[in-house]
Amino acid sequence: MARSKVYYMDAHSESTETSLVAKMLTVFDAAELDKMIKPNDMVAIKIHCGEWNNTAYLRPVYARALADRVKELGGRPFVCDTTTSTYSPWGSRSSELDILLTAERNGYTSATLGCPFICADGFIGTSDFRVDLPEGYLLKEAYVAQAIAAADVLIALTHFKGHAMGVIGGALKNLGIGAQSKRGKLNVHMGGHPNYGLGAAANFHPEAFKGKAETPDWEILEDCCPFKLYHINENDELEWEREKCTTCLGCFGVMGPRGILDIPPINFDAVDVAIADACLGVEKAVGRDKVGYINMAIDVSPRCDCANHADVPIVPHLGVFASTDAVAIDMACVDKAKESVGILGSAAELMEAHHAGDRKFEAAAATFHGQSEVASINTGHEIGLGSRDYSLVDVEPADGAKYRFPYDRRASRQRFADRFDKFTPFPYDRHDGKGFARNDEVDLEAMKRHYEHSTNGYHAEVEEEILAPADDD
Ligand code: SF4
Repeated sequence: MARSKVYYMDAHSESTETSLVAKMLTVFDAAELDKMIKPNDMVAIKIHCGEWNNTAYLRPVYARALADRVKELGGRPFVCDTTTSTYSPWGSRSSELDILLTAERNGYTSATLGCPFICADGFIGTSDFRVDLPEGYLLKEAYVAQAIAAADVLIALTHFKGHAMGVIGGALKNLGIGAQSKRGKLNVHMGGHPNYGLGAAANFHPEAFKGKAETPDWEILEDCCPFKLYHINENDELEWEREKCTTCLGCFGVMGPRGILDIPPINFDAVDVAIADACLGVEKAVGRDKVGYINMAIDVSPRCDCANHADVPIVPHLGVFASTDAVAIDMACVDKAKESVGILGSAAELMEAHHAGDRKFEAAAATFHGQSEVASINTGHEIGLGSRDYSLVDVEPADGAKYRFPYDRRASRQRFADRFDKFTPFPYDRHDGKGFARNDEVDLEAMKRHYEHSTNGYHAEVEEEILAPADDD
């Protein structure tokens, strides 16, 4: 397969044209994603709106700026996400009602986005479009969220970070999980699979349940499963109808820590492979030449935005990437993270994987030792979704004027002179024209000294000279 191009700008910012919003739009154009969009096209912008109390998800301003650009091109944008499967007994995005409320709290509303925010797989998550996948490595069909499958163009606007199951949460996962309906997610998670599904592969330890009397929170053991597969029988024993398990992951966080269920690593490995198959399903549903990818590798938390928290990023901001190839763009991000030093105090340091050259995600994001941060990438390469062999194209900043405040492009005098004549914010008529009551002179250097806390509870001045003059030579 030919080398794919990945267009790239680093994360440094010092001006309008190097702001991350401007860089996102600059790589969008450089990768010619703008050329995909024709007048009146319905353009889906697939984002992750973040779980309740997550704080690492992409700020809505990126989706807003992209939606504005789509409108400039004549397209009709909508921003979307999908319901979860349910993942946790207390999930905040398991139905359309829930996800709209969570998205709104996280800033994703039609008011902030300038276009509708849509739950793409319907009220419960069964609104989808089935795609045959004879090319799939593991999956032979995919269920793509209806609103995404119905779009003329799809832009995957991805927050690149780690993921406990996928190891990386990049473009492949944004579509391979995030653009699947709830039904599609159960397919990717191996629900009902004879070898890789939770029901088939997990070790069940009902003996770890001590009986209702000795297990004060026993009710959650039954209540964590939305398919009603756990029961406490008349003999006060815990039973599991494992043959009906959908691998919705609702019980992972309840049964695992109590020693009742061993989560099988093989399930995670299989899901990582299936993610690439399902991503191909999305491209087939929308059109192979109608899907573009932007990866914002910033706030690179070890856990996904689907976690109800966000840990210290494991590497500094890596930059902004765009491509028409989901495999290449994720490979480029993984390579950048590997090249980078890790952040001290993050999970990367905790796992002693904070050096340049260390595989940060396998150490700091994966749930199990032995999971691979390139399994989805390799699968995508294998099935012809894209190529892990890529060229990284450095993109120069565009003209800053393009990214200025668009509602009034005149300079300050034209915008404000008449108004300041009428409503002057500076009181020229007070204090001999100086405007405000202030001391004429104070010791500014005194306020620049550094102080230390001492164990005796008072502050001792640090002895070294501050702002020491530089040596002449
Ligand atoms: S038993 Fe299966 S279906 Fe029930 S919560 Fe666990 S993973 Fe989901």
